[in-house]
Amino acid sequence: MDYDFKRIASLLPMGGMFAAERIFFLDEVDSTNAWILRQAETEGLCCIANHQVAGKGRQGRKWKDGKGGSILMSMGWQMDTEHASGVSLVAGLAAIRSLQESGIEGVQLKWPNDILFDGKKLGGILVEKTGSKIVVGLGMNFHLKESLALGIEQPWTDICSLGVPCDANQLLAAILRNMGEMVTDCLIRGFSGYMNHWNSLDAFRGCLTEVRMNKQILVGVEQGVDESGALRIQTDEGLKSVYSGDVSLRRKQLQSG
Ligand code: ATP
Repeated sequence: MDYDFKRIASLLPMGGMFAAERIFFLDEVDSTNAWILRQAETEGLCCIANHQVAGKGRQGRKWKDGKGGSILMSMGWQMDTEHASGVSLVAGLAAIRSLQESGIEGVQLKWPNDILFDGKKLGGILVEKTGSKIVVGLGMNFHLKESLALGIEQPWTDICSLGVPCDANQLLAAILRNMGEMVTDCLIRGFSGYMNHWNSLDAFRGCLTEVRMNKQILVGVEQGVDESGALRIQTDEGLKSVYSGDVSLRRKQLQSG
């Protein structure tokens, strides 16, 4: 990405937690999350890269980027908190607010960490925690090369395909501001105040859904999240709550006949 560092700095609030001098732009890195976690002090630190050679998804899955075709960034916090579980959801809300400020509407969320447009994956969030260090990583497709995308096993899209001109510098500054404010608030106060907002953007709400958890599969109607951020599924055996872990959500195809 051809970021204009001065412009980004000029768009950030003065005296904010993620100040310009704590933002590091790298051409290449293993993963922006890993870079933050290697630092002694992670509070208020941000790492932005053009390319990750080992971009991470959940559970060892890979996040791919076109060299220079994606927004790849991680932000760090350092605190003892009991509210880390809602962070992935709130980070998704912050990403959507930032896209809306850039004129991009219609983006939705898939529990626990995907950003979707028209059912296709536009971005993903990965939250990692080591002791009191908390890092929130975001990968968002900006202008992904088709050749690279052939290696992505899920339907995907990128910002340049959405038909709304978007300035990457402005979007990045908005993400830094919104994620900085909202994730900090969630870490201090918890997720409950974001529940209704998250549910209004839930791409799977009311859909017959299959939840794959390790070897177990839960089938039911997705009912959004509760105040702790757990996903609720109405099954034949009653309402079940799904917490974090290796959980995969898929729309269930109705069998005919
Ligand atoms: P699930 O869909 O099973 O819930 P997930 O999509 O949340 O899992 P993650 O670990 O968040 O999985 O992301 C990794 C997955 O995202 C990869 O396995 C791949 O299918 C997909 N992926 C990788 N790179 C991209 C990309 N640039 N754009 C869209 N999707 C990608």
